Amino acid sequence: MVKETGYYDILGVKPSATADEIKKAYRKLALKYHPDKNPDDPEKFKHISMAYEVLSDAKKRETYDKGGEEALKGGGSGGFDFHSPMDIFDMFFGGGGRRQRGPQKGKDVIHQLRVSLEDLYNGTTRKLSLKKKVICSKCEGKGGKDGAVEKCPTCKGTGRQVHIRQLGPGMVQQIQSVCSECTGKGERINPKLRCKTCLGKKVVDDHKILEVHVDKGMKDGENIRFSGEGDQEPGLEPGDIIIVLDEKEHNVFKRNGNDLIMEMDLQLVEALCGFSKTVDTLDKRTLVIMNLPAEVIKTNDIKCIMGEGMPIYRDPFTKGRLVIKFNVIFPTTVELSKIPELEKCLPKRQEVIIPDDAEEHTLEDFDPRTQNHRRGEAYDDDDEGMGGQRVQCASH
Ligand SMILES: [Zn+2]
Ligand SMILES: [Zn+2]
Repeated sequence: MVKETGYYDILGVKPSATADEIKKAYRKLALKYHPDKNPDDPEKFKHISMAYEVLSDAKKRETYDKGGEEALKGGGSGGFDFHSPMDIFDMFFGGGGRRQRGPQKGKDVIHQLRVSLEDLYNGTTRKLSLKKKVICSKCEGKGGKDGAVEKCPTCKGTGRQVHIRQLGPGMVQQIQSVCSECTGKGERINPKLRCKTCLGKKVVDDHKILEVHVDKGMKDGENIRFSGEGDQEPGLEPGDIIIVLDEKEHNVFKRNGNDLIMEMDLQLVEALCGFSKTVDTLDKRTLVIMNLPAEVIKTNDIKCIMGEGMPIYRDPFTKGRLVIKFNVIFPTTVELSKIPELEKCLPKRQEVIIPDDAEEHTLEDFDPRTQNHRRGEAYDDDDEGMGGQRVQCASH
């Protein structure tokens, strides 16, 4: 049992969630609530990041499970390091691109691409239409005609504004803030010389069609990177566009690494006497599945077919296994007259010795919601406060 479920709730997973489930939940939420896409609710992104940081780290998760949020904060258990939401995001998606040297790089842009299991099995090419900012070709990213850039008159080029506030007689407070006119850049485009195409913003919106090649065997969460295709900004090397694959759930197959897992129902006759069943593969072939002659299959038996799982990335002629988990469907009743015949085919019953004074009972359906105490056995009925008096339920 965990003490609190808050972080699990934020990610929408159960406290029993595996590391993979936590990763997947974070990936989806972080992309959805990234401040670039969802500027109205920055707190949400912070909470998601915090929850992920704790639950993805075995030590932090254990501490949280035992003592809740309080234990993480102080708790004496040898203080934890926490990262900023953006650092966590960059670490997760391999983005950020904070270069030590060389030209400064713009931000990476991350998009999610929903793909079916069929897409990942067969490979596919998808065209994505994306909005991006490119350098204005009219003014070549200068924002206006030559000489249009001038020192910001509001902050006189410092990028800061200072407000003086009178607190009391002889007491003033200086408050510094980023210049609202030039947003801290210290320069502005002279409105008279401003470029009419980009309105002095130096960049314009453009549509870009990206061809995304999804290779056979790629996995959920895998990144496909387009170097230098991110937003352009004057003076910066453009960042990358990163496409993150998001695998849709399939209604027959579940994927586990390179294996495909499916469940198969068998009628009792099939489980006992053998069967041929068909399975449609993800590349639209039909497999006929048979068991060994005279082999009996039980519920929860697991069998596999080699080479019918997912293709392996960069080695697509090698495939994983198709794993089949069986569920045997028993008939609800058997015709009375057929029982002797049936009995002859099955392994012998175990002999039971019944004493003379044994009591006979016929089984009834069990309903866990009702609690009937039979025949005054020594159950405590304290909550009813009726001492020796007990409710009896008639036997059939
Ligand atoms: Zn322009
Ligand atoms: Zn300014």
